[in-house]
Amino acid sequence: MALMIGEECIACDACVADCPNEAISLGDPIYLIDPNLCTECVGAYDEPQCASICPVECIVPDPDYQETQEELLEKYHRLHPD
Ligand code: SF4
Ligand code: SF4
Repeated sequence: MALMIGEECIACDACVADCPNEAISLGDPIYLIDPNLCTECVGAYDEPQCASICPVECIVPDPDYQETQEELLEKYHRLHPD
């Protein structure tokens, strides 16, 4: 399941650099996660890096993008073919 950024986001920029898939970008007025790039950090880390660093805890699962661990891992390998 991809994660999504809630409207509580204060646009602090802290999460962007920690994403292994470059899935987070600045929207208007808050940051956005591209569900096609977010693997919930599966393949890279044990837990979602963005959610663990966010100071206002506004990053939550996106119910529109349900995926299994296997699907998330496949997505990660597609994004990182090396
Ligand atoms: Fe990026 Fe991981 Fe956050 Fe998804 S959960 S947006 S892959 S840091
Ligand atoms: Fe927004 Fe949280 Fe990311 Fe900061 S860390 S930009 S508050 S989602």
